[in-house]
Amino acid sequence: MLDASARQSDDDSNLNVPVALDFLHASAPWDTAMRLAVGTTPEPVPFEKERREMIEVQLRRRGIRDERVLEAMFQVPRHEFVPPAFLKAAYEDRPLPIGQSETISQPYIVAAMTLAARVEAGDKALEVGTGSGYQAAILAYLGAKLYTVERNLQLAEAARERLARLKFAGIEVIGGDGSEGYPPAAPYQIILVTAAAPDVPPFLLEELAEGGRMVIPVGDLFHQDLLLILKHHQQVARRVLDPCQFVPLIGKGGWPERGGPLL
Ligand code: SAM
Repeated sequence: MLDASARQSDDDSNLNVPVALDFLHASAPWDTAMRLAVGTTPEPVPFEKERREMIEVQLRRRGIRDERVLEAMFQVPRHEFVPPAFLKAAYEDRPLPIGQSETISQPYIVAAMTLAARVEAGDKALEVGTGSGYQAAILAYLGAKLYTVERNLQLAEAARERLARLKFAGIEVIGGDGSEGYPPAAPYQIILVTAAAPDVPPFLLEELAEGGRMVIPVGDLFHQDLLLILKHHQQVARRVLDPCQFVPLIGKGGWPERGGPLL
């Protein structure tokens, strides 16, 4: 099984550019505004330096400039979504293992998918592949009402507990095969698939609302393109966003569980 869930950075020449790091210590606008409004000395933010570095070096420099998305990426504590053994690596530019042979995606790919989905407060969203719950938390932070489906029931339970402990509201974690969609809450303004599909599952296309956005990695088991699917007047348009590498989507609308090329 592939162990990387996202575009690896060795093909990204931005990483080889020497970086002036002094700007990382300056407060971001939202941070300053919050401190002024509250008028008190704030609690220290765990991993603050690492979070700022992630925002500036991994995201802003690679073209993610939407302040709402950047704020969500700064505020959601990624270190709470990784196993203790990977705590120090939580804000690094790579996917990390979360147990059960699965991964939490690289920060860049989470931000790129979130940006492409153009999340508005109140949007109804479906995520396929809850994993750690991190992408779900980012969408919820931006105000989406989220249904997230995970086929691995142990991961689903752990994510449910984690999101409740961290007090993320408006997220329902469902155990099952999300490649078939989740009809009880359809249609969705946003569908995000965080595992690689051989093609866009027809079940998901049916559940995308008019004007909806779906972001999904499509390709073979080793290389995929991240696609943005737009539905307008029952017409479907596809845009290729980024090359990427995700773990497989396994199920009725994805790859077979056993006997497939990889398993
Ligand atoms: N979004 C996750 C996060 O923020 O941690 C990372 C997702 S991980 C790259 C892909 C996940 O998709 C795995 O947890 C895997 O079990 C799940 N998955 C694969 N096929 C699935 C399916 N048919 N339905 C639901 N989840 C599936």
